[in-house]
Amino acid sequence: MKIKVQYAMVLNLDKCIGCHTCSIPCKNVWTNREGAEYMWFNNVESKPGIGYPKKWENQQIYRGGWTQKGKKLKLAAGGRIHKGINIFHNPDLPVIDDYYEPWDYDYGHLIHSPEKSHQPGIRSRSSLTGEPMDVKWGPNWEDDLAGLTETGAGDVNFKGLDFETYLQFETLFMFWLPRLCEHCLNPACVASCPSGALYKRDEDGIVLVDQERCRGWRYCVSGCPYKKVYFNWKRGRAEKCILCYPRVEAGQPTLCAHSCVGRIRYMGVLLYDADRIAKAAKTPRDKDVYPAHLEILLDPNDPETVRAAEAQGIAPNVIATARHSPVYALIKQWRLALPLHPEYRTLPMVWYIPPLSPISRRVADTAELSQTVDNLRIPITYLANLLTAGDEGPVRLALERLAALRHFMRMERVEQRTDTQGLDAAGLSDQDAHKIYHLLAPAPLADRFVIPTAPEPEANTFLSQGNCGLEGA
Ligand code: SF4
Ligand code: SF4
Repeated sequence: MKIKVQYAMVLNLDKCIGCHTCSIPCKNVWTNREGAEYMWFNNVESKPGIGYPKKWENQQIYRGGWTQKGKKLKLAAGGRIHKGINIFHNPDLPVIDDYYEPWDYDYGHLIHSPEKSHQPGIRSRSSLTGEPMDVKWGPNWEDDLAGLTETGAGDVNFKGLDFETYLQFETLFMFWLPRLCEHCLNPACVASCPSGALYKRDEDGIVLVDQERCRGWRYCVSGCPYKKVYFNWKRGRAEKCILCYPRVEAGQPTLCAHSCVGRIRYMGVLLYDADRIAKAAKTPRDKDVYPAHLEILLDPNDPETVRAAEAQGIAPNVIATARHSPVYALIKQWRLALPLHPEYRTLPMVWYIPPLSPISRRVADTAELSQTVDNLRIPITYLANLLTAGDEGPVRLALERLAALRHFMRMERVEQRTDTQGLDAAGLSDQDAHKIYHLLAPAPLADRFVIPTAPEPEANTFLSQGNCGLEGA
C-alpha cells in the first residue's frame, strides 16, 4: 500500500445558483493577461447544453481521456509513439471558435464621440485581431438554457432519452454545472505531453504545467477529456487551473471556493492508495469505474491506515485534516458526491452532489421515497450519464438520501417530531442526518474547507510577495 495525499473538492449542485461569481476572481487572478482572454479555468455551464468548449463531452470528436483495450489502458488519441510520428498534426484539438473569439468594446468611441443628436453606439472588437466583430458565441452562451432548441440535441447526456420530450414546458429541466480542472489521479494530460511538462505534485496531487519545459505541442489540451488545459497563444505555452496552490499552501481555500455565493463548495484532503490506481482505471466496464475509484480512497479514521501513513512520512497535521475532511464524508462515507464522467478513466477529484429538483410531496415510507426520486424533474438517466457512466443506482441512492434528509429535517423543524422512516429506508441514522444537514445547510467556513498548511516559511511566501497570477512566469 502506497499512501498518498490528494486535495479534492465537492460541489453541491443542489445549491448552485448559477451566479458565476466563482469564475470572476479566478479570471481576475489567473487568466487576466494577453493570450489568456478566452480561458476560464473555472466556468459555469447550464445543463442541458453543449458547454465550453462546444461539445467537450463528446469524445467521438475530441478523443480525450483513456480507453480500455483488452487488459490495457490506452490514451484514446494514441500514445507517445503515435504522437511523436504525428507531432506537427493534431486533429483532435478544439479551435478558437469552439471556445469563443474573445472580444472587448470600443469604449473610446463612447468617450470621444462628438456631440450628436443621438447616443453614440459601441461596437464589439476582437481581442485577437482588434477588428470589429459580431459576437456569435461565448463561454456562457447557453446560460439558463438559451438556445437549447439549437444546441441541446448535441448534449451527450441525453443518451437513452428522447431529447425532444424535454423541450416541453412541463418537462423542461435545468441546473448549473461549475467546472474546473479535476486534478485527476490518472491524468490524461500528463500522459499526453511529449515534453513531460505536465506533472502531478507528489505531496498533494495538484496537476501543474512546468512553464520552462512546455514546448507548446498542445497534446495536453486534446488529451484532457474535460478540456481544462488551455493554450496561451501569446506565450506559446499550455496553462491550466493550479488549484490556487499558493493560497492552499497557506491554509486558504481556492478563489472559486472562497467566493462561492451559494456556499456549494467543500475542500479537503483525502488519503489514497496509489497502488490501486492502475487497477481502478482498467476496470473492464465503464459503470464499474466509480466503485473502483471509491476503493482507492482510504478511511482516515482506520488506525491501520493512520499507522501506515505515518510510517510513510505523511505529516501529522495532514492526517489530522484528512480525518475531518468534509470531502471524505460526502464522497465515501455517505455516498452523496459522485465523479464527473468516470468513463473517461482519469479518476477525477472534483465531485458533485446531484441536484434534487423541487419536491412538494412528503416522503413517508420506502415506496414513497423511491417514487419521489422517480418523479423528480431532472431525469435520473441524464444525471447518471453525467456522473456515473449511466449507472442509475448510485445517483438514486444519493437522491434518496437527500430527499429523506429533507423530509426528516422538515418534520423536526416544522412539526417538532422525529420521523426516521425515510432515513431508515435510505440507510442513514439520525446522527448522520444532523451531520449532513450541518454540512450542506449552514456550515461555517471552517467546516467547509479543512485544509492543512504547508510548513513555514514556504506557506506564506507567495501571498506575502503580493504575486498575482502567472505574472513574471
Ligand atoms: S481534468 Fe485536469 S488533471 Fe484531469 S486530465 Fe484534464 S487537465 Fe489533466
Ligand atoms: S459562485 Fe457558487 S453558486 Fe455561484 S455559480 Fe459559482 S459555484 Fe454556483
